[in-house]
Amino acid sequence: MSAADGETVSDLQDGIAAMVRDEAVAPGGRFDTGILGRLFDAMPLRVTAADAEGRFVYANRAALAMFELKREEVVGHTVRDILGADMVARTAAMLLALQRGETPQWSDWVTDANGARRYLEQAYAPCFDGQGGLAGFIALTRDITALKEREEALEARIAALNVAETINTAIIKTSIDPIMVVDEEGILIDLNPAAMATFGYARSNAVGRPISDLIIPPAMRRAHANGMARYTSTGISRVLDQRMSMEAQRADGSLIPIELTISEISLPQRRVFTAHLRDLSQIREAERQMEQQRDRLHQAEKLSAMGSLLAGVAHELNNPLAILVAQSTLLMETAVDAAQKRRAERIHAAADRAGRIVKSFLAMARQRPEKRETAQLNDLVRATAEMLAYGLRSHDVTLGLDLDPHLPTILADQDFIGQVVANLVINAQHALIEMEPPRHVTISTRRKNGHVRLVVSDNGPGVPDAIVGRIFDPYFTTKPAGVGTGIGLSICKSIVESHGGSIALDRGEEGGARFTVLLPAAVLAEAAPEAEGPDDRNGLTILVVDDEVDVGASLAEMLELFGHRILPAQTAREALDEGAIAEADLVFVDLRMPGIDGLKFRDQAIALNPRLADRVVIMTGDAVEGPGAIERHAGDGNIPVMEKPFTLNDVRRILAAFT
Ligand code: ADP
Repeated sequence: MSAADGETVSDLQDGIAAMVRDEAVAPGGRFDTGILGRLFDAMPLRVTAADAEGRFVYANRAALAMFELKREEVVGHTVRDILGADMVARTAAMLLALQRGETPQWSDWVTDANGARRYLEQAYAPCFDGQGGLAGFIALTRDITALKEREEALEARIAALNVAETINTAIIKTSIDPIMVVDEEGILIDLNPAAMATFGYARSNAVGRPISDLIIPPAMRRAHANGMARYTSTGISRVLDQRMSMEAQRADGSLIPIELTISEISLPQRRVFTAHLRDLSQIREAERQMEQQRDRLHQAEKLSAMGSLLAGVAHELNNPLAILVAQSTLLMETAVDAAQKRRAERIHAAADRAGRIVKSFLAMARQRPEKRETAQLNDLVRATAEMLAYGLRSHDVTLGLDLDPHLPTILADQDFIGQVVANLVINAQHALIEMEPPRHVTISTRRKNGHVRLVVSDNGPGVPDAIVGRIFDPYFTTKPAGVGTGIGLSICKSIVESHGGSIALDRGEEGGARFTVLLPAAVLAEAAPEAEGPDDRNGLTILVVDDEVDVGASLAEMLELFGHRILPAQTAREALDEGAIAEADLVFVDLRMPGIDGLKFRDQAIALNPRLADRVVIMTGDAVEGPGAIERHAGDGNIPVMEKPFTLNDVRRILAAFT
């Protein structure tokens, strides 16, 4: 019997129609034992036949096995009884289609009479009665529940995999840390956008290249190759799944600090390695800045401690120094013979020098707004040279001065410019210590196109080209911690620039470093030549108030040399009480006195004698606190100040403003 044989199929249908119509299909009957029955029983398909009311007339062995019923328990019972309501609905739909002359099929999940879900495929064939009416149908059923379940499970797994894949791709794409994947040969297979951005590669010029050429600095490539080879041959790795810090190279050759972990992924055919990296540049930079802040704080603390210590020392030293300077000046003027004059000169020079050293140290320690006064750069250079002389000598460094005697004056904060000179000389001294003698530092000054030029050069090693661009940066130093702070040159630069000048470095004739500072010359300064000795101007009546009797007396003697009349007073009270204020044309008063201090005295004196406004000179030996206190008190006005110890020239300069 062949399915292609139309006759036979129609015979089959007739046969089934007959069995639907009569009792031939009764269990154990003719059909069952006939060839068709045996054929149906041998089929894995379930074959059932039912009449037009849905009452079973036949079920083959496969169907009975599925129903777990005997044939007599099926035949004569309805689809509803055996297969449940769900199948009734579907069978009804099929019957309608059969009536329309179709041969319907369906496949779907159904719920059987026991409430279990089954996936069935069914095809229906009609059985007609003698008049062509629908007598019943035969249904071929395949239960592919297991297959369908496997298929659905597979689909669910694939869907889940797809979701996971999408998520993983998104994670890798949006990761802010670079991720790179390499194969066993170390060839880059893939990299994420963060890796491209961090290392400066496009996918097209990175994928397919050895990772060692891409991001491993040349110095580490051999170690990397050895490590890869060892792992491939022995399976031993020192780096897998470890957190490591190292340097990596970017496409432009620059190096960045990174942290990384390398993991292995085993694929069916091969192994690949993923590297998760983190660019530590910003973290390191933040750490460096914190370190700098700490140093800065430490430095500031040191400076302020040193400042207050020096303020105290200076205060104590300046009064006796003032007496020494003044008395030796007077002695020089009144000496009876040349030998006595020479001695006086020596005492004066020594006291003067001691005074300048104290002032220079104070200038280094104090932090205050800049002043502007007419200054002679050569004087500042000499004072600095004296201050540093001992240190230079003890390191076997000779200091040569080549100063232009016709140098114009500058408008400057003398302490700050002195600090610039000192920093440059100290740097030269530091650089020279590493060299074999002879060790020289030369300071020269010259007039140059409306500027004065200061050059500090040494015969040391010079500044290496690689760091020339950075030496003026704050906190850049090549010296060990505790020796260098890296602020010296940056302070020099800011001081010089705030004076309208410039500072530059080049290599000197002797091969060492040469720093050149240009400062604008003061235009009016030359109009005030310094007189050489006392002169006789029209005398003023000058009130001198100082609790240090000898300081007051020394000043008084100097003022008398200039032909002025002195009203001495030891205390403010005494000066106020005795009517001296009304008489005075000019007042010199000490800043720090018991009772009323110099500034309060000034206010009271001006109140009593308004002519004295701007004519009260404050004397201070406290170079740290003094100027600040005076400035705060001054408000808008300008209070003349004379620092102790003072020389005859200092006194003359002050007097020049009032006579
Ligand atoms: P510091 O002296 O504390 O290091 P500076 O800002 O004064 O700070 O100097 C910065 C760096 O410039 C020094 O560390 C040194 O490397 C270099 N430098 C400065 N002066 C000289 C010089 N005369 N010779 C060679 N190098 C110098």
